[in-house]
Amino acid sequence: SPTPRWLFGDQLGPHFDTRGRDVLLVESVHALGHKPFHRQKLHLTLSAIRHRAAELGDRATLLHAANYREALREFGRPVDVHAPTSRQADRFVRTLADESLVDRVDPAAGFSLSRNDFREWVGDRRTVRMEAFYRFQRERLGILMDGDRPVGGRWSLDEENREPPPKGAPTLDLPAPYRPREDDIDEGVREDLDRWTRDGIIDPIGNDGPRWFPVTRREALAALHRFVEHRLPHFGPHEDAMLAGDPVMAHSLLSVPMNLGLLDPLEVVAAVEDAYRAGRVELASAEGFVRQVIGWREYVWQLYWHFGPDYRHRNEHGATGPLPRWFARLDADAVQARCLSDVLAGVRDHGWVHHIPRLMVLGNWALQRGFRPSALSDWFRCAFVDGYEWVMPANVVGMSQHADGGAMATKPYLSGGAYIHRMSDYCGGCVYRPSERLGEKACPFTAGYWAALDRMSGDLAGNARMRRPLQNLRSLAGVEQVLAQERDRGAGPP
Ligand code: SF4
Repeated sequence: SPTPRWLFGDQLGPHFDTRGRDVLLVESVHALGHKPFHRQKLHLTLSAIRHRAAELGDRATLLHAANYREALREFGRPVDVHAPTSRQADRFVRTLADESLVDRVDPAAGFSLSRNDFREWVGDRRTVRMEAFYRFQRERLGILMDGDRPVGGRWSLDEENREPPPKGAPTLDLPAPYRPREDDIDEGVREDLDRWTRDGIIDPIGNDGPRWFPVTRREALAALHRFVEHRLPHFGPHEDAMLAGDPVMAHSLLSVPMNLGLLDPLEVVAAVEDAYRAGRVELASAEGFVRQVIGWREYVWQLYWHFGPDYRHRNEHGATGPLPRWFARLDADAVQARCLSDVLAGVRDHGWVHHIPRLMVLGNWALQRGFRPSALSDWFRCAFVDGYEWVMPANVVGMSQHADGGAMATKPYLSGGAYIHRMSDYCGGCVYRPSERLGEKACPFTAGYWAALDRMSGDLAGNARMRRPLQNLRSLAGVEQVLAQERDRGAGPP
């Protein structure tokens, strides 16, 4: 009979080849407990693994073991495996091959482009920008193309997708996102997680709560369908906006099933393109979403390997601050700043907020306060249900913290309260004022913006895109008082 297939917890869909094979699934105590993961992230992973085992029935062996090596020894037959998604795990399975516990390592699945083809595309390019990669992907895959031209004549309609939230509306008032129904397997997972927490085997962060995300192929397809038919038409315009009363807005929540390996990114963009071609979705929404999937998602995956193991330690601005406990453990109630409190509460309660609160609230705060980029990257990986080792270095160290000397982004994503005020409805109900930088009502994001700019002014002096903000800093009235005020504020919750 063919060699059994070992599936990791992010390799659970049909594009990980299990045809006619026995399948090994492992719950490794070490993998679950070695970092403070979000409680709901652990739940999703375990629930997905157990559901997959139940689906496969007799063909599946599900082992609960101290670690993967022990599980393979117990299983007693060599296995084939698709290359895992982290450098460490990749090295590890190759060691297991040397020990004859693994027979063959197949290429990674769940991404549209192989690492070799990416290397070939990079060639001797000095910079690897997202725009060029995305265009290459569209052309290569023939997605949203008219012959050799992009549909509609432009590669990106991003400019149409930056609208603030609708004025005065507490929500976008859209059809609700797909929600799964929990079952006995979820109940079992919950009991195990409670017990392991009591026994000190795991130390999760965040709250438990009803499961928001798919864990089976069937659920993942239902979530995809629901999004494309009912919510995608509204995705584009307010993609970058935030509403306190509508944390999901028109976002898809599909990063979770894609990163669990339940959905293939190509089937996701095919469904989106079909909806566009059938006239059910505007191009700005279809293109904006396709760009996230075959553009951004694949780009950060490839960069994880391309930039190499030292990338996550890049620290261009010399930021060495630890993550304060209130931030790391999601103590939203300790925070008065309404935007930051609400976003931390979202992560605490769901392990998920969309990309703008991640970038412009959490990442912006960390950049302003000088948190160490590698520690922040680890935290994002653990606290978010879609966070994996490969996801966060480019997103956090590169894009959000600008700690890679500009390899990914041409300027830091540093902003004051005015940006948050324009793009959200947070400031109206806040004890602070976004326009004030001094005194009791000084917005900590606004004051923090100037303090951070001052701290990084040396590093940013040669950056053409930062010339204007640096000039503004030099002519800012009362700058010394702002700096003193922010030094006094220290690392406590704002
Ligand atoms: Fe956030 Fe400042 Fe607005 Fe308050 S005033 S919600 S702290 S940006």
